[in-house]
Amino acid sequence: MAVDNVTPVPAGEQAARMVNLLGCDRAGLESYLDELGERKFRAHQLIKWIHSRRILDFNAMTDLSQALRSRLEACTRLALPELTAEHQARDGVRKWLLQLADGIAVETVYIPGPQRGTLCVSAQAGCPLACSFCATGAGGFNRNLNTWEIVGQLWRVQQILAAEAGTALTNVVFMGMGEPLLNCDNVLPAVNLMLDPSAYNLSRRRVTVSTAGVIPGIARLARESRASLAVSLHATDDALRDQLVPINRSYPLARLLEACREFCALRGGDKPTFEYTLLGNVNDSPAQAQQLLVLLDDLPCKLNLIPFNPYPGARFRPSTAEVTEQFQAILIDGGASVTLRRTRGADIAAACGQLTGRVQPRAKRLQPAPTALP
Ligand code: SAH
Repeated sequence: MAVDNVTPVPAGEQAARMVNLLGCDRAGLESYLDELGERKFRAHQLIKWIHSRRILDFNAMTDLSQALRSRLEACTRLALPELTAEHQARDGVRKWLLQLADGIAVETVYIPGPQRGTLCVSAQAGCPLACSFCATGAGGFNRNLNTWEIVGQLWRVQQILAAEAGTALTNVVFMGMGEPLLNCDNVLPAVNLMLDPSAYNLSRRRVTVSTAGVIPGIARLARESRASLAVSLHATDDALRDQLVPINRSYPLARLLEACREFCALRGGDKPTFEYTLLGNVNDSPAQAQQLLVLLDDLPCKLNLIPFNPYPGARFRPSTAEVTEQFQAILIDGGASVTLRRTRGADIAAACGQLTGRVQPRAKRLQPAPTALP
């Protein structure tokens, strides 16, 4: 007779195995409640308590029956990571560390504006992609974040903002640490909660998933979510893009642009945004601006130019103001819809590509980076 099944499980471990309702979107909660023999509309009530009212005590959820509350108390948990180590930049940008249970930490950045408040969330601890101009990629990769660790970033920041009665959180961009479309199974439910009217109720145009070009993930985002898409382009030919964004070797430009066209078609004309970080003397020539126009000629899209944000050990430098202006002017003259991103939070290393969190260094990482891409 096997004795394994009678080995007592320590209480802490038992709690960790219980389903964490913070990571369940509406569909996930409905199927869980169905298993319990409960009515599906309870999912709406639970989501409202957990994400909108930010109540984590089942006993305070007064529109649920006492029996259901006791059952949830016994079988589930509501756990989310803490935000610590806040830094505030001179321009009002705030950066926190999100402490994860396994001793690692990722960064989350809040960018307040006069009309909106944008949260820049992380999707992975570190990043396996190693883009050559990004500090996160240089630090190695530990693991994917769970849905509750992604949505926990919103939950915690909402709580801080509500207490301060300052600007509200209106936008979310997946431009923190990691590649969100290598973590679709956890990112897509998190996006669902961000858009859910009973949870965070954000407009689908104000939740943007940014990818270095993971084609299968773009297809899933198009079909399984309503959020917006941003694609990190950074180069107009495969030879340079292979160097800057090495995932291009698996998903080259022509196929990437085809996936973006399919995204537009499936979404009834939703326009992706192409991000283009200007690297001095690397991808910022007038000829490259012209090539960009040709490349995107038949694709309805927006272009976002990003000034390169330096970090210790970086091999690149920003384009000069004149070169940036000229590059942008060529695109505008060519009829493109272009914006130039203003660098925010640079004095606390909170700008694009400067986030490093506290991940295990490459040599000690908990999990090897995936060698085969989907
Ligand atoms: N993995 C996602 C999210 C990355 S961060 C992606 O690749 O899209 C968001 C944007 O910042 C990306 O376009 C990324 O290429 C860019 N970026 C990375 N490092 C940068 C740096 N040092 N300066 C400016 N932009 C950078």
